[in-house]
Amino acid sequence: MTAAYAITGNASSLHASGRQARKLVEEARETIAGALGCRPGEVIFTSGGTESDNLAIKGLFWARRAGDQRRIQVITSSVEHHAVLDPVEWLGTHEGAVVQLIPVDSHGQIDVDALREMVAADPGSVALISVMAANNEVGTVQPLNEVVAIASEHGIPVHCDAVQAAGVLDLNFAIDGIDALTVSSHKVGGPHGVGALVAARGVAIEALLHGGAHERSRSGTLDAPAIAGFAAALIAAVDQREQTVARIEVLRDSLIKGVRHVVPDAVLQGDPVASGRLPGNAHFSFPGCEGDALLMLLDARGIECSTGSACTAGIPEPSHVLLAMGVDPELARGSLRFSLGSTSTQADVDALIEALPAAVDRARRAGRPRIRISSEA
Ligand code: PLP
Repeated sequence: MTAAYAITGNASSLHASGRQARKLVEEARETIAGALGCRPGEVIFTSGGTESDNLAIKGLFWARRAGDQRRIQVITSSVEHHAVLDPVEWLGTHEGAVVQLIPVDSHGQIDVDALREMVAADPGSVALISVMAANNEVGTVQPLNEVVAIASEHGIPVHCDAVQAAGVLDLNFAIDGIDALTVSSHKVGGPHGVGALVAARGVAIEALLHGGAHERSRSGTLDAPAIAGFAAALIAAVDQREQTVARIEVLRDSLIKGVRHVVPDAVLQGDPVASGRLPGNAHFSFPGCEGDALLMLLDARGIECSTGSACTAGIPEPSHVLLAMGVDPELARGSLRFSLGSTSTQADVDALIEALPAAVDRARRAGRPRIRISSEA
């Protein structure tokens, strides 16, 4: 990337430095295609996962409905990232889409039979199905093969948000039979603000951004250095995937064991079976704690983790993912996600286990902001 920043040309310009920038972009496109098992022409560069999800969902919906006015159903899972759920809801509010959410079990895995029934009820009205490869909060891996099998019986396109799975799970666009796949650079160790939508040749996607049509279905001058960095990070992650996964799985299991040892009532969320969850994900609910308080207490000890909660009017709301899994809202509010990556070490895990008991104790004593609704005087 440092070398690429010395090239000042615009990849759409015809002069020499423009051609140099174009070369960087096209080499990156080939690298990314090689890493994801697609053709270079199927890679559409975007500003990241959020834009790719929006492009796939709105773009597929508009193109499918233009082909047949009856196609107005959008089916997605109840545990998607907001980058999927919000454009789906937006289509429902502004474009007359009929939204169907696939329920999940207590581990966060979609109910494939429910999906089959939703599709079978009126397959001709389904515009698209969008199901993530793996959940960003609880790490649960979804049965994509089954989703693709159900959709392909009726020629329904499938979009998959693979932001959490790229470089971690064994993804192959062509073999997996997906029509559109979202990937984001910063989740594979690349720069922020760049990503791609991989869209199968022949799949029509209406553009969101209109302008110079720099990319198929996407206008806007490309950030060649960021794209070069994205490609370098993705190929490194894919090439080292097996070694990295084997290493972080050991760390994750040590983290889970350690947390259970020092906070015995902590509840592990997501699939307890190792193969059913992302290798670097451990997600716990701590009864009696406010997740945000615990997060800040751990942050003060140099341990960075996240909650899945959003704030509404200053009050933390439990994560929609945990609620969809049937987790009690009070318990859900005390949840934290610990993510391990290629640079994580056993010393990081040990530091967490050392800091956690005091943090949980303090968070429990601090109590929670509440709004009490009581009929008692
Ligand atoms: N989808 C999932 C599953 C994610 O985890 C994220 C980001 O965390 C996104 C989409 C959004 O990607 P970006 O941050 O590149 O916009």
